[in-house]
Amino acid sequence: MDVIDFCSDLIRCRSVTPDDDGAIDYIANFLSLIGFETKILTFKSEDNSNVIKNLFAKYGNSDRKILGFIGHSDVVPAGENWETNPFAAVQKNGFLIGRGVADMKGGIASFCCAVAEFIRQPFSGSIEFFITGDEEVGSREGIRSLIEWADDAKLIPHDCLIGEPSSDVRLGDRIYSGHRGSLNVFVKSRGKQGHSAYPANYKNSLANLCRYIVKISDYPWKHENKKFPKTNLEVTMLFSDNCATNIVPELSSANLNIRFGDDYTSETLKTIIEQEAKEFNELTFDFYPSGEAYYCDNERLKNILAASVKEVVNIDPSFSAAGGTSDGRFMIHHCNVIEFGVQDATIHQKDEKVKVSDLQNLKKIYLSFLKKYFK
Ligand SMILES: [Zn+2]
Repeated sequence: MDVIDFCSDLIRCRSVTPDDDGAIDYIANFLSLIGFETKILTFKSEDNSNVIKNLFAKYGNSDRKILGFIGHSDVVPAGENWETNPFAAVQKNGFLIGRGVADMKGGIASFCCAVAEFIRQPFSGSIEFFITGDEEVGSREGIRSLIEWADDAKLIPHDCLIGEPSSDVRLGDRIYSGHRGSLNVFVKSRGKQGHSAYPANYKNSLANLCRYIVKISDYPWKHENKKFPKTNLEVTMLFSDNCATNIVPELSSANLNIRFGDDYTSETLKTIIEQEAKEFNELTFDFYPSGEAYYCDNERLKNILAASVKEVVNIDPSFSAAGGTSDGRFMIHHCNVIEFGVQDATIHQKDEKVKVSDLQNLKKIYLSFLKKYFK
């Protein structure tokens, strides 16, 4: 099947998390037709408020080498002001346009089409698909549950390729061999409310919080493992319970987001965040880690993926651990993980688009990778 047709069909499924709108069944039907054993797995949150459809599929004759592919069929909401219908998969000026074309229905379509071509020749090993429906909202009923299920069923692969967008300015220029960790910190400041003309009678929670934010923003993060970009902390939200210009607020709060390399863990960061707060009155913290930093050093995987990129688009890719988090942070505890796909320039934006020729080349790169991997 043509990769552009496959990707266009997927874009037409309005699979905005937690909706699926036929995306998982479409992929399952395709894989089943070419000989995969497929299993649809629906996982629910404890209170049944979140119900997510996922797909596991396997093809092969031996477990000598098992290659996994991780992808998510859910997308973020389209938002406003698109030039075309975001779910119509319009082709214009050499681009395929639509919500999810880069993140990451293009990656799924390319890998599925590459596999369909690859398995026409005999090979020794197995290919597994882990396609999930809630990557955009935390992956709890998606990859995390799917990995637990696969672990129990002894179906964890040896290596995993993630088809998320990884390229920077050209297809093939960047491969993700890791990612930084991410920690959200919700900080609350309590003072004493008062009239702003009477400083002796109040304690300004907002000023106190701002002074702390300035201090922690300037923290001298160490940067020993240069495979990761330097750790950075950003204040992303600031609130105070105030509705009048002459009232000093009693309560204020902020969210800090920290992206960190493996010089730190969520736990060591917690200690720093709290220690730096000692000189400030009445600050309390809640911590929400969303993933630790990881890096995959498997030379074989890196070499054959880089060689496949070079063969198809004549570029020597760089290996990076920048970017946001991905579902790789869960699989890395079980096997090697590497991540490669189209450019990420338009993801989560209006008019998300990928060059038609990039999708065709991505399929060729994946096909070359499969041939080298099972050699
Ligand atoms: Zn994604």
